[in-house]
Amino acid sequence: MPGPFLMLYLGCFSGLLALYFGCGIVLSCVNARHPERRIQTRSQADIVAAEIRQSVVALIEIAALLASGLWLQARGWTLVPIDVSIAHPWSIVAALGLFVLSLVLYDAWFYWGHRLMHWKPLYRFHALHHRSIVPTPWSNNSDTLVGAFIEQAYFLVVPFILPLPAAFIVLHKIYDQVTGMIGHAGHEYFASPTARAPWLMLCTTFHDQHHGAFHYNFANTFSIWDRAMGTLHPRYDETVERLQGGSADRSR
Ligand SMILES: [Zn+2]
Ligand SMILES: [Zn+2]
Repeated sequence: MPGPFLMLYLGCFSGLLALYFGCGIVLSCVNARHPERRIQTRSQADIVAAEIRQSVVALIEIAALLASGLWLQARGWTLVPIDVSIAHPWSIVAALGLFVLSLVLYDAWFYWGHRLMHWKPLYRFHALHHRSIVPTPWSNNSDTLVGAFIEQAYFLVVPFILPLPAAFIVLHKIYDQVTGMIGHAGHEYFASPTARAPWLMLCTTFHDQHHGAFHYNFANTFSIWDRAMGTLHPRYDETVERLQGGSADRSR
């Protein structure tokens, strides 16, 4: 039945597009008011238009992956999602538990998928994203179709591995889109003790260092895998500690 799928797809695409431009505009405005929080001194303003064009192309595919996962779940071809009802508080607790589990699984998916694309035979599919050495919010989805597929196919697969209700899958994708754009903001607003050892959360500096130094910080949600696999930027924790005071990191 192409009709319902097309409606679902258009809903996903327009929602992601609105998030992309909404977050991009808000973050750009906040950044303009806080030049002191800029992470790198370099600038690549000349590639922003190309980043936006490529992001829209990648979002066409990303919306298809998300819509396909939701559609297959709605058709009953995946695990049966748990029933969430306000009348059964435990069902809400269970759904939130599955949501957190989904964040952890996606973190592993992203880390290993991303590292795979840094492998020489596959790097040509990821090189476009690394044209942005100084990321801006608009860099987040500037990727090839193969690169976007490897990183985002999780949202097609997740209904087959977790009984996560559709609303929480959508919530996870919204979380991923917003935090991804904050991760490319180029300005640091979230440096805190929980963004560095011994905690496992991240701040914008984490992925900024990936773009700036290339060989480190492959994850995007937690620092678990980079710490475990020895790919954490050697100065990440100390940089976050310094940025906690609100000053910019001009040392790189
Ligand atoms: Zn990369
Ligand atoms: Zn990036």
